Parts: sequence; C-alpha cells; structure tokens
Amino acid sequence: MTQKKTKKTTGRKKAPAKKNTPKVPTEATIVEESTEVYTTPRRSIAFIGSECYPFVKTGGLGDVMYALPKALVKQNCDVKVILPRYKCIPWKYQEKMIYKGAFDMNLCADGRSYYVGIMEYVWDGVVYDFIDNEEFFGGEKPYINLIDDIPKFCYFAKAALAALNYMDWIPDIIHCHDWQAALVPVYLRTLFEGTRLSSAKTILTIHNLRFQGIYNIPTIQYWSGLPDYVFNKDALKEGYEDANMLKGGLTYSNVITTVSNTYAGEIQTPYYGEKLDAHLRYHSNKLRGIVNGIDYDIWNTYTDSRLYANYDITNVLDKKKENKRNLQEELGLVQDDHKFVIGLISRLTDQKGLDLVNAIIPEIMDEHTQIVVLGTGDAVYEDSFRYYENAYKGNICSNIMYDETRAHKIYAGADALLVPSQFEPCGLTQLIAMHYGTVPIVRETGGLKDTVEPYNMFSNTGNGFTFDNYDAGLLLDAINRAKTLYFTNRWCWDEIVQRDMDKNFSWDNSAKQYKDLYLELTW
Ligand code: ADP
Repeated sequence: MTQKKTKKTTGRKKAPAKKNTPKVPTEATIVEESTEVYTTPRRSIAFIGSECYPFVKTGGLGDVMYALPKALVKQNCDVKVILPRYKCIPWKYQEKMIYKGAFDMNLCADGRSYYVGIMEYVWDGVVYDFIDNEEFFGGEKPYINLIDDIPKFCYFAKAALAALNYMDWIPDIIHCHDWQAALVPVYLRTLFEGTRLSSAKTILTIHNLRFQGIYNIPTIQYWSGLPDYVFNKDALKEGYEDANMLKGGLTYSNVITTVSNTYAGEIQTPYYGEKLDAHLRYHSNKLRGIVNGIDYDIWNTYTDSRLYANYDITNVLDKKKENKRNLQEELGLVQDDHKFVIGLISRLTDQKGLDLVNAIIPEIMDEHTQIVVLGTGDAVYEDSFRYYENAYKGNICSNIMYDETRAHKIYAGADALLVPSQFEPCGLTQLIAMHYGTVPIVRETGGLKDTVEPYNMFSNTGNGFTFDNYDAGLLLDAINRAKTLYFTNRWCWDEIVQRDMDKNFSWDNSAKQYKDLYLELTW
C-alpha cells in the first residue's frame, strides 16, 4: 500500500484563537483516501492476546491490540483478534456479540475437557472473536493472581487455536502477545502439529518482559497438557523446578519482536533481561524491535471531545492555556496559567520510576509549579501521592483512579509529562503527550530513548528533556532544565511544543514494518 503522509502546518507563529470546532475533512483529503492502492499482497493474521481497548484495558498492550489490527487492515491485511470474553467487558459490547459456535476441548494432562464458546464482534474492519468460558473468565478483573491466571491462560492459548481450527480460518501468521498468549506457538508446534493450522508462522511480541507466567512444572504441565519434552531447559523449564510460559513461547515462535529497538537490545543484558537475557541472546537472530504508534482517531487534539478546548498546531499555545485553566479548576488547583504544570499518568508501580519522583517532590515544588498525578497501583505510591496532595494543597492533585477522560484532559492541560521509568519497552504516554503538545521529561531507556530526542539548547532541536542513569538527582536536574527554559525562554519552549505536535506518531509506519515482517515470513 502506498504510504500516505498527513500534511501538517509547520508554521510556528501563534494563530489567532479559532472557534472550538472539529476539522471537517477537505475534498483533497477525501480524494487522497479514496485513491489508496495496495502495493503488497494480502495476508491474514490472527492476533491473540489478553486485553484490547475498548473491551478491557489495563495498559499499553490494550492500546496496541486495538490500534495495530486497525492499521494493518489499511495495509491489506485480513485480521482476526482473539480475546478472552471476560465478564468485566462492558455490557454494551457483550450484547452486540454474535454466537459463532461452541465445542468441548481436552485441556489438562488427565484429559479433563472444557467448554469453548466463540462470540464474534466486528468493528472497523476488524473481526474480534471472544473465547467464552465463565469458569475461567468470570472474575471481576482480567488478571487476578498467578494461581488463577496460569490455568486461565493455558486454557486461553489452546482454546484460541482450537477456535481457529473450528472456524476453519487458517491464517498466514499467528501473532501472539506477552506471556498470556505465549503457549500458542508451543501448542502449535506440538499438539496442533499436523492440523491445517500448523502451516501458520508465529510471532511473539514482548510488551513487557517483567511478566513471564512462571509457576512450578507440575502445575503448568497439568493445566497445559503439554508433552514432557517441552519442559526442558531450552524451552519451558526454568531453574530446577519451574516452568516459564514466556520462555517456551520465545523458543517455539518463528520471530520474536518487542516494542522498540533499544528495548530489544536492553533485554539481552542482565540488567534488563529479567533472567531471560541469556535465552534472548541465544535467540537474538530472530529478535527485532518495532516501535508502537498511537491511534490518531482516539488521540486527536482537533476532534477529541473530552478536551475543554480543541486545538491544532496553529493555536496550541493559546488553547493549551485554556485547557490548563479548566483542568486547574476541575481539580481544585490554584488557577493560574503562568504555573508550570507537570503531569504524571501511569500505573503506580516500581517500573515507572515513582520512587525517584517521590524522593524529589519537595524540591520540585515551588510557587511556580503544580503536579497532577493520575494512576492506580501499589499502595505505597498511592498513599505517598495522597500525602503530597495534602501537604501541597492547591498545587498537587493526586487522582488515584483509572479514568480515560481525565487522562485526555491532563495530556492537553499539562505543560510537561514525567516518564522516569526504570525500564520502558515502548511507552505510549510520552507519545500521546508530544502529540498533544506536552513536553516529555523522560529517562533514556527503551522506547523513551527511541522516541524522545533530547533538547539541545545550542542547535535548538529536540523534543523533550532526558536523563540517563536511574537517579533522583538526575531526574530533578532534567525537571529544572525544563523549568528554566519554560520560565526564561518561552519562545524556544513554544517551539518544542510545536515540534512535538508536528512529529508523526501514527501507526502507519509501524504497521508497515509489521506487514513487511509478515511478508518476509510467508514469502
Ligand atoms: P504500560 O503499558 O506500561 O502501563 P504505556 O505507556 O505503554 O504503559 O501505556 C499506558 C496507557 O494507559 C496509556 O494509554 C495511558 O494514557 C493509559 N493510562 C495509564 N494509567 C491510566 C489511568 N490511571 N487512567 C487512564 N489512563 C491511564
């Protein structure tokens, strides 16, 4: 398919404030869309993963499972997404699902069999098939604890393949995501060998290496019903008595991808490798990194109905102030558009570098600065952010919740967004922030390093402020550099804002790279 480039205004001057109305596609853009020609052959892909926006999402994996299939449809791909039918999927989606059939499937080592229902939902050219079994997916949340989740995802991996066979939908590629779907390649090359499905090639994408699905061998062997020989040290076996589902998937898949080039290199080192670095080095010839994009239909400053005021690159400087003032008002902060507002939208876990943030909040806070936190996670961080909200009333607001609408408002209303992660496979929040004209302050790791070019005051280039070692002092230094520019050279700051908005983070580039990979595997 020919890659289209969205033309954007690069003008840097402030435009007069415009009326707050979404952009209507012009005749030129309509013509451009209708003249799309596919230049690469069609391929069929089954996506298998444990979450997908808007049905169920706990983090970036959910975003990717939604946006990448949609982008692949535009790359001449036929995509089916296989997901668990969790009870917690909102009823407005459940009621539209169509029953496609059901069968019983042998699962456990003792031959115990389980019901597999298939419920289908078609949306935006993508077919979603939900695997239905209330015993496994009836919980209030998608993930509960390993004792429940190990059997659940053994069942899911096998049922996903059995469902494809049942529907007689034989894809060219089976693209699996994270440990929850990692047994798929293992099943395909063992219990499904010889079925029509075994002609498919497999890709396993690591969205976060920290989670691997590790439990003792007897439990995983019982629930998966996999043959003894896969529990050897080159495949599932880890240490003396454990089995590692992700490790098995890495061994049996044709290609391993992860979500940025830097992370693909990092995970082959002991520091980032989560004890799988040697295994990944061994398989490095089939490992590569493809950075994520963001969905431009959801993340569009011009049409985003959740914003107080819509904007584009020509009026961002004015409209961001309006968004900031409204955000301050809604969150009970002192309303002052001269304040430097720092946003933090994150799962509140160790991975995200929150111990660094906590350590320096008193030093960040002065009369010119405000902090807005949005996230849920470990009690230690939830409590400390609540404490700081109380200690700096009117200037820190801790939203300990998961709230999509509030996230959009913070991306638009903040001046800067903090992402000081210990490790970050790709990271979406810095991409969304830049797309919304909010300057990222990030640690140089994984996808943060690949997507945020450090600001260079001499050449006046770059997209954000960065620091390298995992150190609270260096984070403070990066925040202070950002603040200094903001308060002493607003012209250059505003240029960063406009440069960030002008950068292309759409899925088009990445989807093209995935399509090339599918073609390479099936040529
Ligand atoms: P991860 O997948 O490690 O959690 P990413 O940066 O890849 O991190 O993706 C996080 C996604 O989840 C982004 O879309 C971000 O806006 C969203 N998000 C994180 N926390 C919240 C929250 N509390 N409320 C709303 N959205 C959130």
